[in-house]
Amino acid sequence: NTFAEIDLGDALNLNIRRCKYVKPTPVQRHAIPISLAGRDLMACAQTGSGKTAAFCFPIISGIMRGHIPQRPRGVRTVFPLALILSPTRELSMQKLSFPIGFTCRYEEARKFSYQTGVRVVVAYGGAPINQQLRELERGVDILVATPGRLVDLLERAKVSLQMIRYLALDEADRMLDMGFEPQIRKIVEQMDMPPPGERQTMLFSATFPKEIQRLASDFLSNYIFLAV
Ligand code: AMP
Repeated sequence: NTFAEIDLGDALNLNIRRCKYVKPTPVQRHAIPISLAGRDLMACAQTGSGKTAAFCFPIISGIMRGHIPQRPRGVRTVFPLALILSPTRELSMQKLSFPIGFTCRYEEARKFSYQTGVRVVVAYGGAPINQQLRELERGVDILVATPGRLVDLLERAKVSLQMIRYLALDEADRMLDMGFEPQIRKIVEQMDMPPPGERQTMLFSATFPKEIQRLASDFLSNYIFLAV
């Protein structure tokens, strides 16, 4: 009933206390144990439900405590272990607020990875790519990206998805509404290159039209459906 009772690892539990999160929200209460158990998940969640933490906590915890595979060093390509794909919610508003809103939202992932040894980098469209490239070159465990910008990074061979262990699709219905389905499919295809790694996938969406169900059956395996 409280975060203190969920063992996410000392450093993450401490960050949760520091941020004064005491009780998990309903989506967190159900999604976190499912993810910690290693199951794929499709969850119905609105903005404001606490869904960001619902997928960030198990990812941070899993990377922090898991066996971190050896990653190639000294190359210009980085190999994140987790990918959070997200639309930019502010797109329809004034241009200026668009990247700012995205980064603020993912400050959450940054905040909770403090002193866990897990490094979070964000990459979104509508902002110069050079600074994002510099951040990536310093290393990345969790990459938070918009689909268009990530395809760009993949085409430049700056990022490889071959070591992805965790994939979270945030606001999947919104990404499809924005026309990102081809990019999303292209991105996920790159994770299926042999040898097939163990991958855990979480899909969050506010609505479940046919297109979302199709994504779920294509990307998730033996998943649990959560509606709160
Ligand atoms: P989200 O739905 O992920 O956009 O989160 C909505 C807001 O609720 C964010 O500002 C979070 O920082 C906050 N929040 C999420 N989970 C909790 C929690 N368990 N306790 C307190 N605040 C939370």
